[in-house]
Amino acid sequence: MVIAKAWVLKKHFDGFPKTSDFDLKTIELPNLKDGELLLESVFLSVDPYMRPYSQWQMKEGDIMIGTQVARIVESKNPAFTVGAFVVGNKGWTTHFISDGKDLQHLPSSWPESLPKSLALGTVGMPGLTAYFGLLEVCKMKPGETVLVNAAAGAVGSVVGQLAKIGGCKVVGCAGSDDKVTYLKKLGFDEAFNYKTVKSLDEALRKASPDGYDCFFDNVGGEFASVAINQMKKYGRIAICGAISQYNDSVPQKGPYVQFPMIFKELQMEGFLVSRWNDRRKEGLQALLKWVVEGKVKYHEQVTEGFENMPMAFIGMLKGENLGKAIVKV
Ligand code: NDP
Repeated sequence: MVIAKAWVLKKHFDGFPKTSDFDLKTIELPNLKDGELLLESVFLSVDPYMRPYSQWQMKEGDIMIGTQVARIVESKNPAFTVGAFVVGNKGWTTHFISDGKDLQHLPSSWPESLPKSLALGTVGMPGLTAYFGLLEVCKMKPGETVLVNAAAGAVGSVVGQLAKIGGCKVVGCAGSDDKVTYLKKLGFDEAFNYKTVKSLDEALRKASPDGYDCFFDNVGGEFASVAINQMKKYGRIAICGAISQYNDSVPQKGPYVQFPMIFKELQMEGFLVSRWNDRRKEGLQALLKWVVEGKVKYHEQVTEGFENMPMAFIGMLKGENLGKAIVKV
């Protein structure tokens, strides 16, 4: 019999998550039935969406939601061979049983030399978010100026690099000087530390005096309120995330968007990457090709040990990650 370890939500988060909000449980897994597989998680993802989703979609005592790269340990399903790696959606658990329907194979052209953890980051959901958000929501065109915040993170770092591949000027901001150095290494034209600038308004103006055609917003709140006023006429704003607000107990007010929206004739659209689930293969193949060619670079913040999942999650929300935050079991 296999005993899985799993992190459950002990208490709904009140403000910023604390390690005491989580509980580590053991679960005895039953023997496999025909058509089923036993999998072990090798890499687990910690993502910002877990914070708001836990409030809406989870009860106290539920296993924390999330995805993993898992190895097949035992198979009673001919479509899945032992030893193969897949992406699962079974939450913060070391082992799990699946009938295979909810598993995604890694693209068949995945090179042996590439870390499989990238299937949770640059060549996974965050990479797809950057890809579809830029192409379908921002509708970026060569020669335009793209602004992205949380730019050194999983989504933002891909946004900036894809915008460069698309022939745009890219401005990014992040919360530390090391992250700013990293953005410059990735090829961002302008980058600044939003925590240390005297005035965000001035920093954005200095980075692009003519304003912005596209704004890929991962942060919301105060940043978005300032940036919206620096959009060019007919600019497009992709509302991807609002991480500055996820831990608020009392909702923030504003911004009041009507004036810039009307007089600059802007388009602002919220989106979830799942809208393009039917084009997942296209997106993953494009991202994998760029990574293999070295046109899209990646960094992973790997926390060792399943027991450290809550710490890795909290650290990511605090901005301790450079690139994609991953836990290696
Ligand atoms: P990241 O890897 O970017 O990690 C989160 C980062 O957010 C931190 O490193 C930190 O970087 C930044 N951050 C935290 N708090 C604040 C704050 N108060 N103000 C500004 N920045 C802050 O995460 P992801 O790339 O996975 O996600 C980025 C955003 O995209 C999130 O909002 C997420 O919810 C959203 N998202 C949306 C999807 C969709 O389908 N719409 C899919 C995937 C992600 P720093 O040091 O720079 O502050």
